[in-house]
Amino acid sequence: MSQFRKHFMRFMVGRYGPDKLGQFLLWTAVVLMGVSIFARSSWLNTASSICLIWCCFRMFSKNIGRRFEENQRFERLSFRFAEIFRKWRFKFSQIREYHIYKCPQCRQKIRVPRGKGKISIHCPKCNTDFIKKS
Ligand SMILES: [Zn+2]
Repeated sequence: MSQFRKHFMRFMVGRYGPDKLGQFLLWTAVVLMGVSIFARSSWLNTASSICLIWCCFRMFSKNIGRRFEENQRFERLSFRFAEIFRKWRFKFSQIREYHIYKCPQCRQKIRVPRGKGKISIHCPKCNTDFIKKS
């Protein structure tokens, strides 16, 4: 096993190796493979193979600069997606815990916690008081 490892290490010299994008491709390939078996879809199977081949191609590639750049682009993109997801989750939790009312006078949006019964709401903008059920 250590002999294999040594050979592999020698083989990998000057090659790019695994990274975040590679991991993503590998997981995508695994998931697509699972779904394709379940759905018996040949094109999902093909897509899985493409991800796997692409992952291997990148790992054994000697064009390290190019692969590094690809990974940078991927990480930026995944960061942006994670941000969008976080924002959605925050919005959802706000909807569950708070009620948004508009002031009848100035249309100012006011956030009120849910489940407190009838409450008097004070508008901080125009100082109007109005009663709503939270
Ligand atoms: Zn107001």
